[in-house]
Amino acid sequence: MQDIAQHLEDRTLILLSNREPYEHRHADGRIEIRQPPGGLVSALDPTMRATHGIWVAWGSGSADAETCNSEGRLMVPPVDPSYSLRRVFLDEGEVDGYYLGFSNAALWPLCHMLVQHFEYRDEYWDRYRAVNEKFAHAVAAEVKRAESPAVVWIQDYHFGLAAEIIRSQSSPTLIHQFWHIPFPPSDILRLLPVDVIDALLRGMLGNDLIAFQTDRYALNFLGCVAEFIPDAQSDADNFVVHYGGRSIVVGVFPISIDVEKYEHLALEPESVSRVERLRDRHARGGCQLGLSVDRVDYTKGIPERLRALTQLWERHPEMLERFTMLVVATPSRSELASYRDLEKEMMSTVREINDRFRTEKWEPIVLVHENVSAEVLAGAYRAADICLVSSLQDGMNLVAKEFLACQVDERGVLVLSRFTGAAEVIDDAILINPFNIDGFVDGIRCALEMSQDERRLRMQRMRMQLRSWTIFDWLASILSRTCDIIGARTEAPSQP
Ligand code: UDP
Repeated sequence: MQDIAQHLEDRTLILLSNREPYEHRHADGRIEIRQPPGGLVSALDPTMRATHGIWVAWGSGSADAETCNSEGRLMVPPVDPSYSLRRVFLDEGEVDGYYLGFSNAALWPLCHMLVQHFEYRDEYWDRYRAVNEKFAHAVAAEVKRAESPAVVWIQDYHFGLAAEIIRSQSSPTLIHQFWHIPFPPSDILRLLPVDVIDALLRGMLGNDLIAFQTDRYALNFLGCVAEFIPDAQSDADNFVVHYGGRSIVVGVFPISIDVEKYEHLALEPESVSRVERLRDRHARGGCQLGLSVDRVDYTKGIPERLRALTQLWERHPEMLERFTMLVVATPSRSELASYRDLEKEMMSTVREINDRFRTEKWEPIVLVHENVSAEVLAGAYRAADICLVSSLQDGMNLVAKEFLACQVDERGVLVLSRFTGAAEVIDDAILINPFNIDGFVDGIRCALEMSQDERRLRMQRMRMQLRSWTIFDWLASILSRTCDIIGARTEAPSQP
């Protein structure tokens, strides 16, 4: 961790994210503190501890307001506090418009190129702008207060406008942003009103470094800038934009996971007994165990996956009782109608499939419709013979990587949508196109019929690839790139 911290030298790291690293909640008449689940928070928390930075985030917990000072500040973690958390509070209208509205009903489907779910309202946009200003204002205040020059790091699509506002209100040494989800080509971004496109892209150009998961998303961004921002020069050969007398570096840093953590979880005695239980229940004899893990989100291709499974059992009755599918589907964003509809569709399709194909001793699909802990997931990943990832679009898809990390027995095959960032960094998976159901069925069959030797070989290669690029490599390479940019500027003083 010290290695990562060293990239910052003596600068103060100020992080901005929607989700906070520690949340206080009322539970059973007392206040409890918890770290929300998710790889990013658990990777960034140690970095913040090591660098004693400042984390600005939405105070979303029910007891958040009463556990910080009047300016929203508190020291975290609770044991051995070492960095500052600055909470920004939002009212219901702000959450509806900025988070559920513009971020999740407009930008999310647009960036994932699933335009049928795109819903734009002026009111959402107004809220998004106002909330971005609110967060940016808090970050700018922290930049001014910091004891050393600040490096600001913005996370994700919730803050498309923040960089430009922070720059106008303060003078950090560098501002960078990581865009975790895909970025669409200009023909898709065009669905937003003209003034919104202009403001969003100019907002993003407020960064010194704007980073994406894959070349494709970075090139889409460069293409959008070329098309919609006439006073910017977008250089797609060198991944840089010249704009307003500044050069904005466009980076590509595919995110990863804490590989060792998942590997250890899979090796825990609890995982061993979970594997035994799962295989005993669902994969007895020659029966194979399939697994999928996702939030119930229309980007994940859940109906497409269920359709492919239906066709598999329909066209290949020899697969009945030979393959059980464990579907972990975590409820998500159920405030939005499109998510509720998807959930209903998923539940009824699973029921239909089970009613149609079940036998006395076999249930085709086992649905787990709840949030499952990393510990329990590790056992399931280890137990599975096949992991199905069928996203229609996905910035990276961490589930694919977690599956590989937990496959310590090297028995499994990864069937992976080619529309995930993961498909661009993992060789040796069986790539499928979830829009092509026949090809998808062939992919599942190919995985089911693959020999043990080939499975082992492929899995070994994929695990090696995964180990060579963990979340800590991702983190170190981004921070080292920011240092390079700062260094290059110092050498070339004509750059402001
Ligand atoms: N996850 C979890 N419990 C669940 C389902 C998912 O902890 O019941 C985690 C999963 O382990 C992974 C993350 O949620 O770390 C999902 O990340 P991914 O990139 O696959 O998709 P996202 O949800 O970010 O779109």
